[in-house]
This record gives sequence, C-alpha cells and structure tokens, in this order.
Amino acid sequence: MIPLVDLKAQYVSIRSEIDGAMQAVLEQTAFIGGAELQQFEAEFAAYCGAKACVGVGNGTDALYLALRVLGIGPGDEVITVAHTFIATAEAISLTGAKPVFVDIREDTMLMNPDALEAAITPRTRAVIVVHLYGQPCEMDRIVEIARHHNLKVVEDAAQAHGAYWQGQRVGTLGDVACFSFYPGKNLGAYGDGGAVVSQDEDLIHRIRRLANHGRLEKYTHEIEGVNSRLDGLQASILRIKLRHLDQWNAARQRHAAHYLEALGGSGVKLPTVHPKAESVWHLFVIRVSEREHLQARLKEQGIATGIHYPLPLHQQPAYKYLGISEGTLPVSEKVASEIVSLPMYAELTEEQVDTVIKAVTTLTKLV
Ligand SMILES: *Cc1c(COP(=O)(O)O)cnc(C)c1O
Repeated sequence: MIPLVDLKAQYVSIRSEIDGAMQAVLEQTAFIGGAELQQFEAEFAAYCGAKACVGVGNGTDALYLALRVLGIGPGDEVITVAHTFIATAEAISLTGAKPVFVDIREDTMLMNPDALEAAITPRTRAVIVVHLYGQPCEMDRIVEIARHHNLKVVEDAAQAHGAYWQGQRVGTLGDVACFSFYPGKNLGAYGDGGAVVSQDEDLIHRIRRLANHGRLEKYTHEIEGVNSRLDGLQASILRIKLRHLDQWNAARQRHAAHYLEALGGSGVKLPTVHPKAESVWHLFVIRVSEREHLQARLKEQGIATGIHYPLPLHQQPAYKYLGISEGTLPVSEKVASEIVSLPMYAELTEEQVDTVIKAVTTLTKLV
C-alpha cells in the first residue's frame, strides 16, 4: 500500500523527541499559553523571516482573524480563487464580506493576476492569494496591482510552509500571512492549529487580543473577541517538527523532481512551477482526461490518490447563493475535472515513487 500521506511514518522517525516534548508540557501543565507557545511563535516568525507571529486555533481562524484586524466586514468584497479549499472563502464570509472568485492560470493552477485586476470594484478591500499545492503565487504582479488599487494582500500559506518567491519565504510577501498546522500539512500538529505572521507587529498584537477574548491581561477585555488559541501541547510538537521542516521539504522536492523527470514520457499533464517560485510540494497534482479510470486502476494496485479539489467553490452548493453560473471560471472548472493528486510526503521511499511512476506510465499509455 502506498498512501497519499503517511503521518505514522513521520511520527516514528521523531518519536523520542516528540514524546519527550509532550511529557515536559504535561509535567508543567502548560496547556494554554506558556513557554513552548511563546518560543514556537518566535521560532516560526524567524523561520518565515517575519517580525511577529501569533498562534491561533486553526488555519481558517488565522484567515478570519487577519481579515478582521484589517477592518474587513459587511459591504466589503474580498477577491480570491475558486480553486482552493473552502476555508479560504469561509473566512471572508465569516467577516460579513463577500467572496469574489477569479480564475486561475492554466499552467500553475494559481490566481491569474489579469483576472484579479479585472474583478476589482470600488468595494474591493483585499485579496487572498492561495499558495496552493506548495507553490507561491505571482507575488510581484499581484502586490503591484493591489498597491495600485489600495487593497490589502493576505497570503493563504496553509499549503506552503517554507516555499520561496524570488528568494523570499512566503509569510512576508503581502501584508499578513496565514498558516494551518492541520496534521497533513507540510508542518502539521497532532490536532488543529494555525498561525498568523507579519512584518507589522501592531497587527499581530491586535490579532493576539482578538483571538483571546479581546484581552491581553487576564481580567481586562478591551474589545469583544473570540477564543482561538494554539495550545501548549501543539506548540511543543510544532517546535520539534519545525527543526525538521527544511529537510522534509527537500525530500518532497526530490520526489517531485523524480516524478517530473520520469513521467515526462507518459500521457499525463505535469505540474508547472513558475521560474521565480520554489515549491515545497504539499501535493503533486497531475492532469488526465480519464481521471476515474486512472484512480480506480491505481487503487487496485494499492496506490492511493486524491482530488484537490473536485468542484471549484462557485459550483459548491454552499455558494449557490452567489449566483455564479457555470462557465464563468472556465480554467478552474476544466482543471477541477482533470486533476489527480499522487502520493507525496517526505518519508516516501525512492522505490515507492518508482512504483507509482511505473503504474501511472503503464496506465496512461493504454488510455
Ligand atoms: C488547510 C487549509 C486551510 C484551513 O486550515 P485549517 O487549519 O484546516 O482550518 C485554508 N486554506 C487552505 C488552502 C488549506 O489547504
């Protein structure tokens, strides 16, 4: 069996470090707040090259809290892509603002800057770029467009911990960046977790307050906030894992290079990385016309696959109310019908990657 992702293999490789760190938190009963959390926040900010970081409950909250402190609310429009996980758009709706979906580029499957520019109205306040599959968006063009129209830029970096755009890590490419530590992400906790990072220390300060019942001191609530915190156990786990992240991302890059080279002669469309981007390959996504056939045959051979994501958000029942008709985002719609995610995680062996390559090559030659 070759799974899509193997969380057990990763745990086994760092078991003693993790068990020791968790035991220490239990002994100190530092379950909410505490030294591990503070240290993780400092270390993750440094990793991203950012001035400040605040741990929050999950990646969806990270996006919601970032939009809230940027002042986004009812009557505002926030532009993002429909080719993403629903959390990106949920965070916009949660503030009372309206999500506006734009199309993606056919090659990178990321936000098309021309489509962004065309969708800006007097109500547009911000854009959420999604560094999907581990690859950063075209930040030079997107930031230029955003600055020209006075829009805030939020990075949804939930799938791109450690990726680079023009030699700069994601996290500092816009005004504020949001991360998820959902277990299967490149940097994953053992439960829910998230973080917001920024070069703007005041912005992070205000998120910290909003995420902790509107307070910075125990009994003074300056505003009404919410409860969305990264807990001490997760912080201790993330501190251990952060030390391994670059090495794990490098392993993903080796697997991706292997897939790209060996699948060149097969009948599948391979993922494209922009020359200015360095992907951390959260997912390795190919495109085929006979998707169901390929997935079923691979499954018979013990190879798991996934689809990220089968339906663009404007076509999901949840967004029917927006009244966006089919054909409005042709590239997103076409890509969603063709994509297949192949097994991708650091602990994959070369032999396993070879097995997937042989199976895909044989099957796509027959179709
Ligand atoms: C995982 C993910 C999120 C949400 O993160 P959670 O921690 O699950 O709330 C947001 N955006 C993208 C692109 C994601 O992949």
